[in-house]
Amino acid sequence: MSHFNILLSAIRLILPDHLVLTDPQSLTFYGKDWLKDFTPAPSLVVLPETVEQVQAVVRLCNQHNVAIVPSGGRTGLSGGATATQGEIILSLERMRRIIEVNRVERTIRCQAGVVLEQVQAAAIAEGLYFPVDFSSRGTSQIGGNIATNAGGIRVIKYGNFRQSVLGLTVITGAGDRLELNGSLFKNNTGYDLRNLFIGSEGTLGIIVEATLTLTTPPRDYVRALCGLPSLDSVLPLLTFCRDKLPNVSAFELMEEFPYQEVIKRRCLRNPLQSTHPAYVIMECEVPSEANRQEIFESFGEAYETGLIGDVVVSESAAQAQEIMNIRDLVSETLSQHYTLHKNDISVPISAVPSFLKELHRTITSTYPTFRVAVFGHVGDGNLHVNVLKTDDRSDADFWAQCHEADHAIFGLVQSFRGSVSAEHGVGLLKRDFLSYSRSPEEIHIMRGIKAVFDPRGIMNPGKIFSTSE
Ligand SMILES: Cc1cc2nc3c(=O)[nH]c(=O)nc-3n(C[C@H](O)[C@H](O)[C@H](O)COP(=O)(O)OP(=O)(O)OC[C@H]3O[C@@H](n4cnc5c(N)ncnc54)[C@H](O)[C@@H]3O)c2cc1C
Repeated sequence: MSHFNILLSAIRLILPDHLVLTDPQSLTFYGKDWLKDFTPAPSLVVLPETVEQVQAVVRLCNQHNVAIVPSGGRTGLSGGATATQGEIILSLERMRRIIEVNRVERTIRCQAGVVLEQVQAAAIAEGLYFPVDFSSRGTSQIGGNIATNAGGIRVIKYGNFRQSVLGLTVITGAGDRLELNGSLFKNNTGYDLRNLFIGSEGTLGIIVEATLTLTTPPRDYVRALCGLPSLDSVLPLLTFCRDKLPNVSAFELMEEFPYQEVIKRRCLRNPLQSTHPAYVIMECEVPSEANRQEIFESFGEAYETGLIGDVVVSESAAQAQEIMNIRDLVSETLSQHYTLHKNDISVPISAVPSFLKELHRTITSTYPTFRVAVFGHVGDGNLHVNVLKTDDRSDADFWAQCHEADHAIFGLVQSFRGSVSAEHGVGLLKRDFLSYSRSPEEIHIMRGIKAVFDPRGIMNPGKIFSTSE
């Protein structure tokens, strides 16, 4: 019997047949994430239903020295959940139980395969609120969200996933089960191992359960769509909103091109009458009715002083939804209608306008045929820089030029002391560019941490950094 068949037989002793998939469709389906740049080639898909089954599979893979790719909703955009070298995919999709919502502690405990939207709904059902939100909420899973330290539109008020993770249960690459911080709000007993797993992209072990913190739901909120006279108005508008409005919870920027594309391709009603070089969607929570009037008056003031060129402020939940739809649909719309090279970078907030000007200048002078579309969570310095293929270019030519242009873009990011991956992680896509954001000393320490949790290097090898030094 081949080495692989021996492992397969051992796995079949742990998992019933329907939880072990070897057919080509399943291998292709589970073998890749949303990025689709890499060809999937896993050897097997396993769908454990219990923590004990996960642990048994990891221990077997250790014995047989076979690599594992943890798999969540596969909405990742960096190839982190992609298996390209005969790895075993371990999908958490059957571990989707909400274990407890604790109203006293204001926490929710769930298995890793629960989708984000389920957590949000379970919190609301108990009169509480899970604030981290983004448009893959219906498919991405809590384990994947934690493994990528996902952010989204409300990071400026609530932080990214890291700020909401209280405790984790993990199976390390060595096959040990660790309970990291339980449900303690205070615990100063040495290194916080929980935090190492947040953003680890499946390279240290498998997150099997999580305890997340909940908060009070906003009483109501208002959203405003602002047309800006120029990119230079973005930061003064952010400061103005934070000074004048209660609880700003989202501040999203869209350049003119991506904004117009969403309106046109999705046949949406354009809430603004005129066109503008940039658009901001702002959300703020409204503690009382009196605040609502103040918000309207503040936007009137912003218009009169020329800070904004036009504005629509939501007067109903439907109108608020209409405004946020434009932002929610932008990524998907561009992906559907263009061959697109995505970059997800961050720079210090105060550097956003100068970075954007320099970015467009660099791209226009070096790659005059490129079309660039930028949008992002500008309230936290995170910009999605998308390069779109034009019809006159071949695919091969386009991808080769994008790879070359990445060095120019990341060089610029580095000069602004930014990050080459703000929220999508490193995965395979950004692996070769890690040194633009992390020093050799930092990368050496990260490798050392991986070796402690995953001594045989079976957990998602080749992601974040290559397997060879
Ligand atoms: C339309 C769209 C919009 C998006 N918007 C945002 C956004 O605003 N903000 C943002 O941050 N991201 C966004 N993303 C990216 C993506 O949704 C997030 O990275 C998300 O957190 C990934 O979760 P997932 O369950 O799909 O993980 P996957 O894609 O399955 O996996 C991601 C990584 O985590 C690892 N992993 C998965 N589950 C586990 C586990 N249980 N234990 C250990 N490792 C695990 C995988 O191996 C992989 O490295 C968006 C994606 C799409 C398609």
